[in-house]
Amino acid sequence: MVKKTSCDRCGACCLQGGAALHTQDLHLIQEKKLKYEDLVTVRQGELAFQPMASEAGPVAHEFLKLQGKPGSWSCKFYDEDFLRCSIYQDRPLACRVLECTAPEALLTITGKNLITRFDCIDDADPLLPLIREHDTSCPCPDLSAVSSQLDENGADKALLQSLEATVNLDLRYRTLANRKFQLPVASELFYFGRPLFQLLAPLGIAATQQEEELVLSFKHRGSR
Ligand code: SF4
Repeated sequence: MVKKTSCDRCGACCLQGGAALHTQDLHLIQEKKLKYEDLVTVRQGELAFQPMASEAGPVAHEFLKLQGKPGSWSCKFYDEDFLRCSIYQDRPLACRVLECTAPEALLTITGKNLITRFDCIDDADPLLPLIREHDTSCPCPDLSAVSSQLDENGADKALLQSLEATVNLDLRYRTLANRKFQLPVASELFYFGRPLFQLLAPLGIAATQQEEELVLSFKHRGSR
């Protein structure tokens, strides 16, 4: 087999999820080349894929990454018609460093100098106190531990009740931000991260709307 030595624009790297952002990328946000609606906060406790990893692992520290396209892992900036990056000149550091023929270079920056929403949000942003309160009152549970618990014991009532309380509190904060500060839905993933009920779905926990609240039940283990 002939070893690849140059980029043939297959897009494989761009189809595996948007890049994490580093301090070297802050200027892209400050210059509005990347907007809040392009980004998603990955919170401590979530499960996420690291570059070159075969399965998702626990996130030890929050970070920001580029959003994917709805219902897919593909980076929102990957143009599948023309097989190209639509922000090539302004792509983040991780995309500049990555060479699929020599992935070691990306590994040298993986997990280092990552930025968070708090590096971007202005101190005068009226949403900031609510975001901080949400972060304290409504932390993302350690989903790796939840996953292990489900593997060992299935979903006991206490676990579901505890998760259900956090899921509904999480949604109340998002509703409040929308009502009080007119937070656009497009920026919600930057300010709050993904809703907890969505993060639980790959673990086999389904959420059903009952009146004003979501009720959780354990269905089956999906692919993670
Ligand atoms: S920003 Fe561009 S190069 Fe980076 S993952 Fe997205 S499409 Fe690919």
